[in-house]
Amino acid sequence: MKQVPIMGIPFSRIDHKTLIKKLDEHVMREEKSFVITANPEIVMQANADTTYMKNLHKANYITADGIGIVRASQLLNDPLPERVTGYDLMLDLLEIANIKGYKIFLLGTYAEALARVERNLKYHYPDIEIVGTHDGYFDWDSNTVTEQVKAAEPDLTFVALGAPKQEKWIAENIDSFDKGVFLCVGGSFDVIAGDVKRAPAVWRRHNIEWLYRLLKQPRRWRRMTALPKFAFNIIKKKLKGSS
Ligand code: UDP
Repeated sequence: MKQVPIMGIPFSRIDHKTLIKKLDEHVMREEKSFVITANPEIVMQANADTTYMKNLHKANYITADGIGIVRASQLLNDPLPERVTGYDLMLDLLEIANIKGYKIFLLGTYAEALARVERNLKYHYPDIEIVGTHDGYFDWDSNTVTEQVKAAEPDLTFVALGAPKQEKWIAENIDSFDKGVFLCVGGSFDVIAGDVKRAPAVWRRHNIEWLYRLLKQPRRWRRMTALPKFAFNIIKKKLKGSS
């Protein structure tokens, strides 16, 4: 698959629909796959942390979660087809899982919210099989999460530990697993649990989902300072390229 490099991150030139089809094929063939949906914050963080950069390079697919990445690819004359978010991938994979009876593992968020996620998923997708869950607040150095996931043999594992933890967790553990799709889904569990509302469609259509999230969760402002730094880097690269 064609890659679009942005500040050292090899983004996959793939649209949402094609990726869903590919991930379903990986499940059917019992292949392993690691999917990251990256935004400018993740790109900036990887550029400041070589271990994290190496973790990201272990992924099979890195998509543009965030309009900033799509715009950057356009500016650098190597356009990515569209935004492909973790939340949208998760919902479409759940639809397929419900039809095919796939096994699901849920990893992340607080135990109380996670129980609500499990309940809501069972209600909306009665034919999926939830083979395991674990909250996202375990001791990093001494835990049995990897063993639990391995023993459960899930077809799809949704990892909602937030960035950079979720990418690090999959990168450090993927070699222990024999099969399955491992997808980073950030704050998606909080939306499914009913704790956080996703931006209404009109905000998403106008590419200002980030603004909606900032207004709803003002504590995010500090993380968003990565955005202008990212933009500055891309413009610098663009000017260098055209001079
Ligand atoms: N989280 C977790 N363990 C941690 C830190 C975070 O399970 O050690 C969860 C947190 O409860 C939330 C999600 O990870 O459900 C992160 O959400 P956020 O909106 O920060 O993620 P983003 O999509 O911005 O990466």
